[in-house]
Amino acid sequence: MEPPLDRATTWPYVDGEPGPFHYARNGHPVGAEAERALGELDGGTALLFASGMGAATAVALGLLSPGSTVALAQDAYYGTGVLLAELERWGLRHVLFDQTGPPPPDADLVWVEAPSNPLLTMPDFEAAAAHPGLVVCDATAATPIHLRPLEHGCDLVLHSATKYLGGHHDALLGAVVAGRPEQAARLLEFRTRSGIVAAPDAAWLLVRGLKTLDIRVSRQTETATSLAEQLRRHPAVQVVRYPGFGGLLSFDVADGAMARAVETGTKLIVNATSLGGVTSTIESRHRWEGDRVPEGLVRLAVGLEPVDELWQDLRNVLESLSRDR
Ligand code: PLP
Repeated sequence: MEPPLDRATTWPYVDGEPGPFHYARNGHPVGAEAERALGELDGGTALLFASGMGAATAVALGLLSPGSTVALAQDAYYGTGVLLAELERWGLRHVLFDQTGPPPPDADLVWVEAPSNPLLTMPDFEAAAAHPGLVVCDATAATPIHLRPLEHGCDLVLHSATKYLGGHHDALLGAVVAGRPEQAARLLEFRTRSGIVAAPDAAWLLVRGLKTLDIRVSRQTETATSLAEQLRRHPAVQVVRYPGFGGLLSFDVADGAMARAVETGTKLIVNATSLGGVTSTIESRHRWEGDRVPEGLVRLAVGLEPVDELWQDLRNVLESLSRDR
């Protein structure tokens, strides 16, 4: 059954001593239930954070020191690079590398993303696992349904649980799943000290979301596979990026004006940022990421609408582009 939503921030001591839950910044029952469920899915110890970026901040500040170097996949979510640039002021260095090959040898932490958002490349896990540094894999877009990075030699998995894990565009959350207890303990200590904690309401929505994760993500994979095939055959589409699993894909049309026409032209698919919900979303990524991505790149995050209706929506807008040329 669903766990009760306990919003308390403090609980009575037991025989004059703190019990398993005593103050919400240290932990709360519904958060612990969500962590148990996610830890089981990923095969490690899960910890929730206030957002995906909160989880990333905890990894960087909790596990590294001034002078440490992060080797970050150049295709990784642009916000991760922005965070690491921010932390340069605190003495953390980062270098970018192509995650389809080996990471630079002298990094303390290797940060890969599977598949990367929005270029959909996959890391070379064997090369990453052979690296002497810690390896963290942001598996937000894959989810544990398609990928368990700890089984590929990674030390830590990071999720923006705001996306597929929560699954309904209504809970901002992050998570780290650690393969080794000492890293989980250190992250818990950092989380309690920094206060980058998840609220009980969001954790409750995650518990609910995880119960349908498999069914949602499997359906999103089916739909995205079909849409990727049809987009590949459409003359207005130059490139389609899809790794063969998950609900996230991107495609290029001729230029920025066309990408804008696509994102504002769909009727069923909502022109909004984010991904991983039951409602499909579409957007041109150049507005956020600049020249890291082609001007004509459109990111599509497939939801649970019928595939025929989604294709009809996309085809209508692509066809109107071809007519307007
Ligand atoms: N990692 C990936 C791959 C993402 O796509 C995002 C957000 O889009 C994040 C991390 C950051 O997550 P949040 O928005 O929950 O802070």
